[in-house]
Amino acid sequence: MTLTTLHQLVSAGLLTKAEAPALAPVAETFRISVTEAMARPELAAQFVPTLAEMLTRAEELSDPIGDHAHEPTPGLTHRYPDRVILHATQTCEVYCRFCFRRESVGASGHLPEDDLKAALDHIAATPAIREVILTGGDPMVLSPRRLTAILQRLDAIPHVDVVRFHTRIPVVQPARITDALIAALDIRPAVWVVVHTNHPAEITPEAAAALRKLTRAGVPLLSQSVLLQGVNADPDTLEALFRTLIANRVKPYYLHHADLAKGTSHFRTTIAEGQKIMETLRGRLSGIAQPTYVLDIPGGHGKVPIGPNYLVAQGAAWQVTDPKGQRHAYADVTKGDVQQAAQVPILAP
Ligand code: SF4
Repeated sequence: MTLTTLHQLVSAGLLTKAEAPALAPVAETFRISVTEAMARPELAAQFVPTLAEMLTRAEELSDPIGDHAHEPTPGLTHRYPDRVILHATQTCEVYCRFCFRRESVGASGHLPEDDLKAALDHIAATPAIREVILTGGDPMVLSPRRLTAILQRLDAIPHVDVVRFHTRIPVVQPARITDALIAALDIRPAVWVVVHTNHPAEITPEAAAALRKLTRAGVPLLSQSVLLQGVNADPDTLEALFRTLIANRVKPYYLHHADLAKGTSHFRTTIAEGQKIMETLRGRLSGIAQPTYVLDIPGGHGKVPIGPNYLVAQGAAWQVTDPKGQRHAYADVTKGDVQQAAQVPILAP
């Protein structure tokens, strides 16, 4: 059973009776939903409300990554020329306490037909759009019938090459990955699925089976995680998560620095802490298990890698740091230079 009230969280042992009353204002502000698969103490911090959520810092924003600053039609974000985000629903199976869309998710269910039509018309009228991203709410909460209807309409737009899902469903509600849903994904544009997951304990045997179903259907899988204090902000937890993901044929894609969503400062690390963790992982994990650590620049200015940086300019050449922290000089081969760029002596770390 999915838990949606403070009382149910107490009954499930995820809150004490004494804690619950003070959390009523939090529950009124930000919706609660914890699926059975996620109702475990080691995962509770992601889904169970805390008083810290009522603390809003000056730098926090209602729309941290500028979804609404680039909205040609309701429910459509067009930030980059070649891709759009289609918010086909605002519903999720779980409501994550750190979500950067926490003020909009859970609000109004599916995108109304008029808005959906306007969004699809915008996509059809804009040949530069090659990729349509279905995201939060969670697009995989839509019934296979509704999903098929949307995907068929995207299929009919010749310049759409890729449809990308961002979803937490395979881990939080794996039973939704049914044969009917898999059949809905079988369209002309390539369907990619980006699984949102933050902790290795989320990959239950049922989740692994759901991921297997998707890969068997030929759907490429990537993952996105958020770096979260008190959840996964240590190299051991992230190493276990990324190893589990690649063992399940999911390529770790992005590790997000936590966004400036209201009431989420208790989850945020510093960027320096994130870089230190990534540096440690660089020495431990193979390349296919390494995500890129990124920041969505507040205000909708785009997403960029934020290090750690292994390369700095040194005069006309470069200084490059290896995974053990040792520094090396490197020189580019310039035009007309017959000499290969030379490996020069190791510098002091
Ligand atoms: S949009 Fe994603 S991160 Fe936000 S509440 Fe829904 S499932 Fe969680």
